[in-house]
Amino acid sequence: MTDCLFCKMVAGEIQPDVVRETDEVLAFRDINPQAPTHILIIPKRHIATLNDITPEDAGLVGRLFTVARELAVSEGIAESGYRCVFNCNRDAGQEVFHLHLHLLGGRRFSWPPG
Ligand code: 5GP
Ligand code: ZN
Repeated sequence: MTDCLFCKMVAGEIQPDVVRETDEVLAFRDINPQAPTHILIIPKRHIATLNDITPEDAGLVGRLFTVARELAVSEGIAESGYRCVFNCNRDAGQEVFHLHLHLLGGRRFSWPPG
C-alpha cells in the first residue's frame, strides 16, 4: 500500500519513535498522545481494519496483544492499569486504515468511553 502512512513507517520512509520491532510487528509512540503512555502496535503487513482479519490472523493478533503486555511492563503501567483499543471504522473514529492496537496508560480512564 504505497499511500498508507503506517506502511511507509514499516518501509522506513517515515521514522516514528519506535519502541519495539519484530519480524511481523512494529510498535511506536503516537504522535498525538492521549495519555502519558500512548503506543500504537501494528502488523507490518497491511490489514485495513479489524473487519479484514481472518482466522489465519489469530496468531498475529495475539502477538499484537503480547507486545502490548510486554510494553505495559516496560512502561511501568502493568500494575496501575492500561487500556488496549482497536478503533474500527467511522463510529469508532478510525482515522488510519492500517490495523493498529492502541496501548494507553499512565492516567485514569473513564467508562463508558466517549
Ligand atoms: P485511529 O483514530 O485510526 O484509531 O488512530 C490513529 C492514530 O494514529 C491517532 O492516535 C494519531 O494520533 C496517530 N497518528 C496519525 N498520524 C501519525 C504519525 O504520523 N505518526 C504517529 N506516530 N502517529 C500518528
Ligand atoms: Zn498499511
